[in-house]
Amino acid sequence: MWSIGMTTVLIELANIRKSYGGQDGTPAVEVLHSIDLSIGAGEFIAIVGASGSGKSTLMHILGCLDQPSSGSYRFAGKDIAAFSADQLAQLRREAFGFVFQGYHLIPTLDASHNVQVPAVYAGVDASVRSERSASLLTRLGLGERLDYFPKQLSGGQQQRISIARALMNGGQVILADEPTGALDSATGMEVMKLLSELAEAGHTVILITHDLKVAAQAKRVVRIHDGRIVEDRIPVMPDSIRHPEGTSHGSAVASSSAVTGLRVQPAMTDSGHAIGLAEAFASAWRTLWVSRFRTLLTLLGIVIGVASVIVLMAVGKGSSEATLSNLAAFGSVHRVQVWPDTDPNHGQNAGLSLVDVETVREVANVQAIVPFNPQQGLLVAGEQSFSTWILATGSEGMEVFNLRMQSGSYITREDEEQMAAVVVLGIGTRGRLFPDESINPLGQYIQINGLPFRVIGVLQETGDDEEDNTVMVPFASAAHRLWGSQDAGAVQLRVGDLAQLDQTVIGIGNALELARGARDFRVFNDAVRVRAQNEASRQQALLLSLIAGISLIVGGIGVMNIMLMSVKERTREIGIRMATGARQSDIQRQFLSEAVVVSLTGGAIGLVLGMGIGAVLMLLGVPVVFSVRAMLLAFGCALATGLVFGWMPARAAARLRPVAALAGE
Ligand code: ADP
Repeated sequence: MWSIGMTTVLIELANIRKSYGGQDGTPAVEVLHSIDLSIGAGEFIAIVGASGSGKSTLMHILGCLDQPSSGSYRFAGKDIAAFSADQLAQLRREAFGFVFQGYHLIPTLDASHNVQVPAVYAGVDASVRSERSASLLTRLGLGERLDYFPKQLSGGQQQRISIARALMNGGQVILADEPTGALDSATGMEVMKLLSELAEAGHTVILITHDLKVAAQAKRVVRIHDGRIVEDRIPVMPDSIRHPEGTSHGSAVASSSAVTGLRVQPAMTDSGHAIGLAEAFASAWRTLWVSRFRTLLTLLGIVIGVASVIVLMAVGKGSSEATLSNLAAFGSVHRVQVWPDTDPNHGQNAGLSLVDVETVREVANVQAIVPFNPQQGLLVAGEQSFSTWILATGSEGMEVFNLRMQSGSYITREDEEQMAAVVVLGIGTRGRLFPDESINPLGQYIQINGLPFRVIGVLQETGDDEEDNTVMVPFASAAHRLWGSQDAGAVQLRVGDLAQLDQTVIGIGNALELARGARDFRVFNDAVRVRAQNEASRQQALLLSLIAGISLIVGGIGVMNIMLMSVKERTREIGIRMATGARQSDIQRQFLSEAVVVSLTGGAIGLVLGMGIGAVLMLLGVPVVFSVRAMLLAFGCALATGLVFGWMPARAAARLRPVAALAGE
């Protein structure tokens, strides 16, 4: 606290000089020459002088908005030369209240929130703040205008708001720079009356004006000319010099005034903490809402980026899961098939033979192998008949096709060697031929193309309609009895070690090509196909992510652009905030919060949009699988974009000098 105890002198300037220029080759010009000035607590003092005499410069130094080039400034006995930027901000926040010629209200805040600004930086509770600002504004006759924006109010009303703001944290010292300069004379008189009442009530009022008539209303007039004090007149000794601050005299005088109760004790118990995140976000949201169309345009890049990341990842995941489930439905990844080439260029007569089967059997890592020659045929059992695929295959078929027996047994090697007339039924075929569940088909004879075959086994359901509705017979039996040809049709095999799959597939190709003298066949494997597909879709996903990434960067640049523009446009606002006590960290946090709010809002809209597009695609039959990870990733990217691209503009804003910012430079 800036208590002055029993000292009556509050402000003491000694040998203060201020020069401008001097850097970058311009000659230094001294505009204040050795100013000595003491101001007591509770004084009502006017600093008067012609335009260009140095009044504003002096006021900026008095209000700690600018530093003197040399000399000492003691406030309540403390030399402020040693103060850090944050301590100066604290002093402005706790001790000073500024009233400017141009009111300097923040255009995007309503009356009540403008008045609250100094208390925000002092860490006062939102409810306490708004109550206090309402009571101040009510006493200043603006109780009905709490939610009016500055541009909806007259000059006199705006000036009263700025006076309320000056009083928000106590306003021990009111610094008024040409407070009546922009007002008509009647309104100007009202404002002066208000300032006089504040002085009566115990505030130290420092009035800066070029108008002698205005100055005459002060209790002490200091005239400044060409940067020097040329006159210091004290017509009446202010009471406060005789009565140290904190005595009861102030309230005694104020009891009869229109501003009874305006003399307020400092409201804050300064925390020294920067404003809270919630406060920063709320304020960012208010600011962005005021220029919502522009904000929306800025959001667009982020929205598109986030939505595309989510849709692309969902579609990618959907298609790869669809492929995988197809794979699961159509068989084992262990299975490799060799089919004669049906490419017209190679001719179609190059069927595979049993010799080829033996050639392939010799290839390393081939675990089980069968010839595979399916042909249409007619099955008859008693009254029932059924036309379906007859698969001529070998004893290792169970392993190759990953089959399980429901009953009986599979084709054996002996069956093959003896060309036994035996048949294994798929579960579907069993139902067709033996609809009566109670009849055991094992051992029964059925006719295939008119020839009798004994049923030796029934397969478990495989889930694949075609497989379930076939029958399997030993290859030799079919070749001999049914097809009348030794053509192997195709070769199907199972590899042992999946890790060796690729080499095995290549080995099969090479061995067969060598044996046959031509590459007139194709080697297929589901895993290889899926892998190729996955590889293609991964590359596609990479490309699409790249596009999404680029749109996020473009969005980020949009955010940075808007923030830089915003800092430029709101330089004066930054100045006002600094004058009312914002720390550099507060300003930085405010602008960073705005960038983050923009990008998070963009992220949220993008999320909803992405899910919407995904839902539409789903309705259109495109396989879509939303992934929480993708959503978090996209959202995280949006947040990071705001932080990264908002950082620079926020820092630029925080580093502005208070005077320069106030001047809107
Ligand atoms: P007043 O408020 O009495 O009109 P100022 O304090 O604004 O006077 O200015 C005093 C002198 O200092 C003027 O000559 C003005 O041109 C000069 N001056 C004020 N600010 C700057 C600045 N930032 N850079 C250079 N000269 C300045």
